[in-house]
Amino acid sequence: MKYLTEFRNGEIAQRMAREIHAVTTRPWKIMEVCGGQTHSIIKNGIDQMLPPGIEMIHGPGCPVCVTPLELIDKALAIAAQPGVIFCSFGDMLRVPGTDSDLFQVKGAGGDVRVVYSPLDAVDLAAKNPDKQVVFFGVGFETTAPANAMSVHVAKRRGLTNFSLLVSHVLVPPAIDAIMSAPGNHHPGDEDPSPGTTGPQVQGFLLAGHVCSVMGYWEYPPLAEKFRIPLVVTGFEPLDLLDGIRRVVIQLEAGRHEVENAYERIVKFEGNPAAQKLLAEVFEVTDRAWRGIGVIPKSGWRLKDAYRAFDAENRFQIRAIHTVESPLCRSGDVLRGAIKPAQCPAFGKECTPRHPLGATMVSSEGACAAYYNYGRFLSAEELAGAGSALSGATHG
Ligand code: SF4
Repeated sequence: MKYLTEFRNGEIAQRMAREIHAVTTRPWKIMEVCGGQTHSIIKNGIDQMLPPGIEMIHGPGCPVCVTPLELIDKALAIAAQPGVIFCSFGDMLRVPGTDSDLFQVKGAGGDVRVVYSPLDAVDLAAKNPDKQVVFFGVGFETTAPANAMSVHVAKRRGLTNFSLLVSHVLVPPAIDAIMSAPGNHHPGDEDPSPGTTGPQVQGFLLAGHVCSVMGYWEYPPLAEKFRIPLVVTGFEPLDLLDGIRRVVIQLEAGRHEVENAYERIVKFEGNPAAQKLLAEVFEVTDRAWRGIGVIPKSGWRLKDAYRAFDAENRFQIRAIHTVESPLCRSGDVLRGAIKPAQCPAFGKECTPRHPLGATMVSSEGACAAYYNYGRFLSAEELAGAGSALSGATHG
């Protein structure tokens, strides 16, 4: 398939890996923000092709994983109500809330449906005027245009029984929060003091699909503020190796620039039509990220003109009492403080069949990637991880 098989060529991958080895003179820590890239890195063994000193840190770029538990519980409460058709993409159905998940709500008689587009949910609303149809709009900037289109179309069609449960998060404020967190340090700083627990990221791979919508004009101020290279990167093995190669070359040269290694898809300005629709429907707001906390101006909510389509307003679910699994370390995984296999519950109490956290469920979750592609720790690594974990506990 054009633009796919060419980017999975093993010989070229080996050559690119050799180039990375040749230019690397010291250790570097690079974060891929996007969970789709994490899966590709682990699936294709990209991290194992790199020089030993280059560590890939897995970032919080799995929207399902960072949707707050309170919002999951609200979704479950809405979906359980009579007269509601609750629509979602399939990957939300097994994400654990405090007491259950959407599958269990469906099993108990709730009308929960998997759709392939939010516009399918709008059609359902048109065909079922006696029901309230809700779409769970979860995602980064990538999926936001389709969700914005759904409320735009619902308004145009005069549908009063369609609403959106919005959980949209934004990449640039997340990078700012990661780099501003205690324990991080910037390229050129002295080594972090002993006991610091931040991921100490020194460069980023930017998510190509997010940039296909938003462009990359938002990132030069971040490169300047934190003196970090940021490279727009795709998802195939050669895309990822090229992105890593470009980050390492910049780090070795002491440069901190924004580069585009995904030119076949991404333009500097992004998709102006999509951005125009987003600006019409959404406005920036503070958002809570599961396992991370509130990041200022890191999400979107519906503007006043579309607030009538906001499921949180329409259903007014209150008195949500959330309880996270005490065993789950997904917050540390999402911050890049530990690797999934370092979580004591990984592969034991927590598996894809019995997940304790969203990162084990989602198709973009780092725990699921490590489990599905067999990244279990050896006995020696586990012993080492025990001491690493005690150092990484920072409350
Ligand atoms: S392995 Fe399971 S319990 Fe551990 S952090 Fe991941 S989702 Fe949570």
